Amino acid sequence: MITAERKKFEEIRRMTDGAGNLLVVGCNTCVAVSLTGGEKEAGLLASQLRLARRKDGIGGSVETVTVLRQCENEYLDSISEQVEKADMVISTACSIGPQGLVFRYPTKAVVPAMNTNMMGYVKEHHVWTEYCVACGFCIIAFTGGICPIARCAKTLLNGPCGGSQGGRCEISPDVPCAWQEIYDRLAALGQLDTLKRILGPKKWNASSSGGPRTMRLEGFKP
Ligand code: SF4
Ligand code: SF4
Repeated sequence: MITAERKKFEEIRRMTDGAGNLLVVGCNTCVAVSLTGGEKEAGLLASQLRLARRKDGIGGSVETVTVLRQCENEYLDSISEQVEKADMVISTACSIGPQGLVFRYPTKAVVPAMNTNMMGYVKEHHVWTEYCVACGFCIIAFTGGICPIARCAKTLLNGPCGGSQGGRCEISPDVPCAWQEIYDRLAALGQLDTLKRILGPKKWNASSSGGPRTMRLEGFKP
């Protein structure tokens, strides 16, 4: 899932300076599961803003509404009345949400309440680990199903580097060496011979380095 953490309240508060009516829009998918930007958290932010504005003698309302997903127009369409009444919309979705709101409501001020950090695997309760950076051309069939792009600090295609010590990465003893994990996995599969093959240069033109990407389902008719 996509993970995002809420910005510090003072930063959000500053972004709303000069705005009258506010609408806090929650998102009930990824950020709701990670307990950072769903209905409950959007409600909490709205309450904080109400209190702070009352204390500072600022007028205007602070309303809140939550949609299932802010990354789809059909859900954003459903809140058009609330959006029209607001002077500023504050999104608690990942950063796709506020940009979706900007696309759907081009004349409305929209600000993000969140910092989006990664696509994470729920490794244990309330702990997410980055397993993919959406490079656009997946190569984990050659690395035992473990991604060296997301999980090796040097994104090595042929590892490990000389810094791997005792199964840990040289950046920190808390970080597993991805290439040690790849080795262990291939050993368990009886496929260590795979490591004798040198992986050639990776196709990077499908990654975000090639500019904004679009995915289209070929032949799909709505
Ligand atoms: S190789 Fe690319 S697409 Fe595959 S898991 Fe790694 S980052 Fe994601
Ligand atoms: S120690 Fe392992 S994970 Fe860290 S940079 Fe080297 S190969 Fe990558």
